[in-house]
Amino acid sequence: MNPPACMPPAYRGRFAPSPTGPLHFGSLIAAVGSYLQARQAQGQWLVRIEDLDPPRTVPGSADLILRTLEAFGFEWDEAVRYQSRQFAIYEQALQTLIDRNLCYPCSCTRSELQILAANAAEHGEELHYPGRCRQGPLRQGPFAWRLRVSSEPICFHDRLQGRQCLNLDASIGDFVIKRRDGWFAYQLAVVVDDADQHISEVVRGADLLLNTPRQIALQRALGLPTPEYVHLPLATDAAGQKLAKSTAATAVEAKFAAQTLWQALSFLRQHPPDELQHASLQTVWNWATEHWQIDALGNLRQSEYSHSGHS
Ligand code: GLU
Repeated sequence: MNPPACMPPAYRGRFAPSPTGPLHFGSLIAAVGSYLQARQAQGQWLVRIEDLDPPRTVPGSADLILRTLEAFGFEWDEAVRYQSRQFAIYEQALQTLIDRNLCYPCSCTRSELQILAANAAEHGEELHYPGRCRQGPLRQGPFAWRLRVSSEPICFHDRLQGRQCLNLDASIGDFVIKRRDGWFAYQLAVVVDDADQHISEVVRGADLLLNTPRQIALQRALGLPTPEYVHLPLATDAAGQKLAKSTAATAVEAKFAAQTLWQALSFLRQHPPDELQHASLQTVWNWATEHWQIDALGNLRQSEYSHSGHS
């Protein structure tokens, strides 16, 4: 039976790692933040492996990430979803956008657009697309598909980062939702999966903040709901570089799970008591679920925040 219409939707959160290497401290922060938000709301927490970028996928790393999450004591409420097995729902979403004339095929290559191949695939770092194929592709396929964006700013409220607005047309331009190589782009897949899995709040690293307006544009184009967003401050190394798999950040180690969880909580400004540094994993989790306060991070915007204490 469906719940009565006046009941708020149940909380559903997720952690959505890309299998490009082992779990490092930066991704652990996103896992811990999203997990504790869900547990505190007595909601559900899902894990989704975002394996839609074969060139960047490191064989074995999805399993390694899952085993590490298990060793850290995370428990997910549904079977792990693999994006590489969800092709049909992305195709359906693309077809909806084609039918609504909200996207178009594009024959431009990266080199034509002078996009640096190495970094361009990183979401959030795309160059502005000048709309060359808006009136039709300049050549025969293979084609990418791009969403038509408007110059109406897309605004949303992030619980930690505050109000955010972006004019997609001026900043990014029409963006790729299906790549020329036939793979669906992160932006489309994440939106379709978040909706399909009824995610009510997305908690993830602030490196993805710039992607959110694109995702909201896609939600609107597809008539999907927009979840709440919380972008956590990014863990940086001593040199101020973001910790990411691509910068070969060291993997977290299962044998130090309790201490590393304590460090993650400390990074997340939860002020775990010192004596818990040598406590069992279960004791640290118990403390964390009882004391979790995401708003403790509230006055620390990403731009004002850096962390070099983690070692
Ligand atoms: N798969 C993305 C990453 O590992 C995260 C996507 C998301 O949380 O929306 O960077």
